[in-house]
Amino acid sequence: MKIAVIGFGAAAIGLLEKLRDNSYQVDVFEKSSDIYSSSISGIRADGKLFVSNEMGGEIYIDPLVQHRFVDYYINFTDKKEVETGKSFASALYYQKFYEKGFLPVSSEFFHIGTDQLKEVLFNIYEHFKRSSNIRFHFNTEVTHLEVVSDGVLINDEQKFDLAVVAVGRSGHKLINKTISQYPELILNNTRVDLGIRYELPNHIVDDLNREMYEFKVKYKSRTGYMVRTFCNNPSGFVVTENYGDFTTVNGHAKMREKSSNTNFAILASLVLTEPFNDPIGYGSYIAKLANLLAGSGKVILQTYSHFKESKRTKNLYRVLPTLEADKYILGDINLAFPRRIIESIIDFIENLNTVIPGVANNDNLVYAPEIKFYSNRLNNRASERLKFIGDCSGATRSIIYATAHGYLLGECILNNSYNIDI
Ligand SMILES: Cc1cc2nc3c(=O)[nH]c(=O)nc-3n(C[C@H](O)[C@H](O)[C@H](O)COP(=O)(O)OP(=O)(O)OC[C@H]3O[C@@H](n4cnc5c(N)ncnc54)[C@H](O)[C@@H]3O)c2cc1C
Repeated sequence: MKIAVIGFGAAAIGLLEKLRDNSYQVDVFEKSSDIYSSSISGIRADGKLFVSNEMGGEIYIDPLVQHRFVDYYINFTDKKEVETGKSFASALYYQKFYEKGFLPVSSEFFHIGTDQLKEVLFNIYEHFKRSSNIRFHFNTEVTHLEVVSDGVLINDEQKFDLAVVAVGRSGHKLINKTISQYPELILNNTRVDLGIRYELPNHIVDDLNREMYEFKVKYKSRTGYMVRTFCNNPSGFVVTENYGDFTTVNGHAKMREKSSNTNFAILASLVLTEPFNDPIGYGSYIAKLANLLAGSGKVILQTYSHFKESKRTKNLYRVLPTLEADKYILGDINLAFPRRIIESIIDFIENLNTVIPGVANNDNLVYAPEIKFYSNRLNNRASERLKFIGDCSGATRSIIYATAHGYLLGECILNNSYNIDI
């Protein structure tokens, strides 16, 4: 049996781990030119491995299984050194946030760091390369998939018995094309998380960072939108993320090199209803609008007080950005974001300030756009020949969930059961 795996990210890693060293011929197609330049994804930047049943994806993954994959990744680091912690392990912190209307999210995490991740990915690649049944094809973007009677045609050229699509969020073009060809694949698509990356001096959030490193809370804002924190990076760095036709902002932290700022995302979750059916289109238009104002490939940076007052920022004060100077423009995010989103974020920050004084300081930094796309939830029962794993399937949103998803599909393949619900 010939299997094509499209994309070499977290989900593909889980799948390949199950399929390696057996009789299937597995061809992996990756659009990046080599293992060093492979993609924008969490297995390239930051690498926080979470164990949680409250975040990470829409499928249930047993925490013991999640721990197994955490160990799997850590075993590929050279020194087996990671930062670890638990969010809201302390009842005191839980109560402090709860009292002010926040919903604390519990999780365990293991932080590999951007610097170590490179070696992890490389070591994993070398590990798979040693399997005689796995072949890698870098620099090969799959742009077209066609289900034929006895297989799937890739790029109108090669035919495989089974194609497993594992292209993550950066593979949205292939996914969009495939679902417009095969609309029966779509289960639902209505959600997008839109917001900002917030940066402030470490000392304001030192206690919190020491207590839990990754603090995740949700909050029902007065606009009705649910707002949440995401991807907290103590002593971290703000970076841009290039999606090809637009640029967004993100953050990461390293194991060795540290900054004097902490950054985290503040995102409002929009769940829109009929006739809306294009959350990725909606998010990308807003991102493009922000890029239009900032200049191509750049994001907007504004101080918190100007963000609140809708004034263009012209100078910064005490907090200096960790994002490189040629990647942002000082501006006004209010010109790009809908009012309801801005109000939700301001409400969130003001309320957070009642728990952590200093969070709403005038000169803290706001970067935009930060967007988390939720891929359409795809139906893996719709075709026996074409399967979707990881973030592009809409079932996962984290390294551990995506890896586990790939692994579970691998188990189904080995058991010859292709009508899976995962
Ligand atoms: C900047 C950033 C930081 C993140 N940090 C974390 C974190 O710390 N912890 C965490 O749990 N999650 C994190 N995430 C989320 C995490 O990266 C994903 O949930 C996870 O990697 C999904 O795995 P995946 O295999 O579905 O996709 P990916 O890991 O994104 O892999 C998809 C692969 O497919 C390739 N590809 C795309 N399109 C094509 C195509 N048409 N043809 C061929 N190849 C293609 C891409 O180049 C990529 O290598 C982060 C995401 C981003 C963007």
